[in-house]
Amino acid sequence: MRVAILGGGQLARMLSIAAHRIGIEPWVVDPSPEAPAAPVARHVQGDLDDPRSWEAIAHCDVATAEIDHAPGAALAWLADRMPVRPGARAFAVAGDRLAEKRLFHELGIDTAPCAQADSLEDLWNGLHRVGLPAVLKLRREGYDGRGQRVIRRAEEASAAWRSLGGRPAIVEGLIDFDREVSVLAARGVDGDVRFWSPVENRHEAGILRRSRALAPEETGGFERAGRRFVGSVLESLDYVGVLAVEFFEVGGRLVANELACRVHNSGHWTEEGAETGQFENHLRAITGRPLGSTRLLGPTAMVNLVGIDVSPEHWHAVPGARLHWYGKRPAPGRKVGHVTLRADTREDLDGTLARAGTGPMPTAEASSSVELRHGAS
Ligand code: AMP
Repeated sequence: MRVAILGGGQLARMLSIAAHRIGIEPWVVDPSPEAPAAPVARHVQGDLDDPRSWEAIAHCDVATAEIDHAPGAALAWLADRMPVRPGARAFAVAGDRLAEKRLFHELGIDTAPCAQADSLEDLWNGLHRVGLPAVLKLRREGYDGRGQRVIRRAEEASAAWRSLGGRPAIVEGLIDFDREVSVLAARGVDGDVRFWSPVENRHEAGILRRSRALAPEETGGFERAGRRFVGSVLESLDYVGVLAVEFFEVGGRLVANELACRVHNSGHWTEEGAETGQFENHLRAITGRPLGSTRLLGPTAMVNLVGIDVSPEHWHAVPGARLHWYGKRPAPGRKVGHVTLRADTREDLDGTLARAGTGPMPTAEASSSVELRHGAS
C-alpha cells in the first residue's frame, strides 16, 4: 500500500514514520531538497502545482495532504486516479478562512463576529459590523500568526490592509477568551468516528507553544458540545481522516476559530498520550482500515520547540520527556521540534514542565490577555 502526501514538512515526516511502522509506503511531494519528510519517505522533489509531480505519485493507492491549502488542480487530477482523503471540499473549506466561517455558521457553530474583507471598502464596512479591537486575517495561506494584523483604532485599518498586501482577507472581532482548546477526531471510510481527549492550547504571538490533554473533569462541560460540533463538520464534509477544530472557550461556551483538514500540532501529544496517535489513525482512516482506540493514557503535555536557541540535549535530561526533532534549519519563529511529557498525575506533569523551564500550563487569567496573544503582530 502506497500513500501520497502533498507537502513534506514535519507533519508529513511524522505521518511517514507512522506509515513505515504499520506497513505503508509513504511518498511525499515537496519542492525543497531539505524537506523534513525527505529522509523518511520516497521524496518527489517538485512543486505541488506541477503536473510532473502528480505523475510521479500516480501509482500510489491513496492521496492526502499535510497542508490546508493543497492546490485544487492537483487534488482534482489525483482524484481521477485514486481516492483523495479528506476530499476536495474539505481542502476548499480549510484553505479559505471565509469558507470556514460560513461552514461553521451553516452548522450553527458560533464564531467571533466576522466579515469578508476582500477590499479596503469591505474592511471599513466590516469594522463597523465587528467593532474594535479586531484582527485582519488573510483568507489563504496565513499560519502561525503570519498574515494577521490587529487593528485597535480605526486609523490603523488602511495600514493593516496595505501591510498584508491588499489581498483577500476577513476581519474578526477580538475575543476575550478564558482559554483556547481544540478537539481532534478521526473518521473512517465507514463513518466510524473517534475523538481524542480535548486539548488546552497556549499560543504566543500567534504560534502554538504548549498543549495539554484535558481529563473529562477539566473540560468544564464543553466536551459534549465540542464533539457535537466536530461531528457535524465531519458529517457535512463526508470527511475521511483526522480533523482538528480550534475553539476559544468563553464562559463555558465554545466559539470556533478555525479548522485544519489534517493532522494537527495540538494533536502531537497523542503519539505518547493516547492508545493510538493521530498519525496512525489518519493513515488507518485514509487506507480504509479500522480506527484504533483514542483512549487517554494519562496526564500528557506537548511543548513546541521554536526558534534558534533550542537545545535538544536539554530535553534528554528531563524524565518522562520524549523528543521529536524535525531536522529543520532553525530560524526565528520556526518550529524545529516538539517534546511530549507524560506523568502519573497532573501535579507531577506541572512539576516536570516547571523544572524543564517552561512553567506549568498557564492559568486562564494569564492567557486571556490580548497583548500576550498578539504582541508580535
Ligand atoms: P489563527 O491563525 O486564526 O489560529 O490565530 C492564531 C492565534 O491568534 C489564535 O490561536 C489566538 O491565540 C489568536 N487569535 C486569532 N483570532 C482571534 C480572535 N478573533 N480573538 C482573539 N484572539 C485571536
